[in-house]
Amino acid sequence: LSSLTAPEFAAGVRSWLDDHAGELHGNRHRSPASLEHAFADESRFHRMLHDAGWSRWGWPEELGGLGGSPVLRAVLHEEVTAAGYAVPESMLTIEVIGPTIAKYRPDLAALHLPAFLRGDEIWCQGFSEPDAGSDLASLRTRAILQGDSFRINGQKVWTSYGQLSRWCVLLARTGTPESRHRGITAFWLDLQAPGVTVRPIACANGRNELAEVFLDDVVVPSAAVIGEVDRGWDPVMYLMQFERGGFAWGRQGWLHARLSDLLAAANGDRIAAAASAAGEAWLTLAALRERVWQTVVRLADGESPGPEISVDKLLLSGAEQLVYDAGRLLDDGALEFGDDDASAVFRTDWFFSRMVSVYGGAAEVQRDIVAERLMGLPRSR
Ligand SMILES: Cc1cc2nc3c(=O)[nH]c(=O)nc-3n(C[C@H](O)[C@H](O)[C@H](O)COP(=O)(O)OP(=O)(O)OC[C@H]3O[C@@H](n4cnc5c(N)ncnc54)[C@H](O)[C@@H]3O)c2cc1C
Repeated sequence: LSSLTAPEFAAGVRSWLDDHAGELHGNRHRSPASLEHAFADESRFHRMLHDAGWSRWGWPEELGGLGGSPVLRAVLHEEVTAAGYAVPESMLTIEVIGPTIAKYRPDLAALHLPAFLRGDEIWCQGFSEPDAGSDLASLRTRAILQGDSFRINGQKVWTSYGQLSRWCVLLARTGTPESRHRGITAFWLDLQAPGVTVRPIACANGRNELAEVFLDDVVVPSAAVIGEVDRGWDPVMYLMQFERGGFAWGRQGWLHARLSDLLAAANGDRIAAAASAAGEAWLTLAALRERVWQTVVRLADGESPGPEISVDKLLLSGAEQLVYDAGRLLDDGALEFGDDDASAVFRTDWFFSRMVSVYGGAAEVQRDIVAERLMGLPRSR
């Protein structure tokens, strides 16, 4: 079975989804409920995909998977979306953090990844701070070695799903304040440890998408270091590639489905009014899809795309905003006045699409990377 080809895998997923269509009816749309309820609603689907084995393919057997190429994970997302279902958000978060822990701490991954794959746990990234976002290398959360553990003090902010998470990949300064990215260490933090306080942040889209994490004399064992002390930048750069790989692949599938649904539901007048916006969204999605598929395959082959990955991020955030702006024209008034569940979901998604050009590196910064590192243009500052 570990030699299962992508077409065989896709056919298996399709027929399983077909057989379970009755049970999965509620997963055809995202829930208009709070983030916390939406995760709970989706967890049954997450668990079903796990128990049937589908979401374990593409992960190594020693980490709770069933083996096979990581590309199978992208094929699963494709089939779930093509069948009209929303891939559980908790499954997309695995695509970002899972590969990094698997590479830098396979022992921790063997311990914790099975629970993440089952949908019993969610993990988060504690990188950004109130004064360190685009300039992440200036972060000030401090970790001081005392015996065989570190004592950590500081604050993180904009932590996606922080209030729902059990574990956090945390960045803290172990070098001098001037050491920038050369003095940062990544830790595997237990969010239930004494001294950790997590507070959800209510966002404009009506959901608690983000959280603040306060660290007050938190003791973390040396064994929780991810990679090497003072070398936390390496796992973070590695992780960023997967946010633009497997995660972006899942996201583009969802955006394609949304735009198709919006077009199918609109009447002729609305389609005429939205034609140009919908066309631009469709073309950007097509470019995103081609690009991200290449990234998924390159990452599966063990390549490191490096700064080129900024192109994927720009296409992803651009496409998401274009889709929802086209949707606003296609479903006139839903954003502002709609009071049904579909309008509530659209409103949540439209406001979220405003945030996507910020997470994982703001669009302005990504354009700088493309200009300077890919095109060789002079530095802007
Ligand atoms: C939805 C969402 C989810 C997120 N999830 C997480 C998470 O899970 N974990 C985590 O650690 N963080 C997360 N973040 C935080 C995100 O990584 C930061 O918001 C981002 O890096 C920008 O940092 P900042 O907010 O401090 O803005 P700043 O860095 O202060 O930037 C403010 C503005 O200045 C511009 N700017 C800054 N520097 C330059 C420059 N050199 N050239 C041109 N323009 C520049 C930026 O583009 C931006 O428009 C998330 C953010 C969002 C919106």
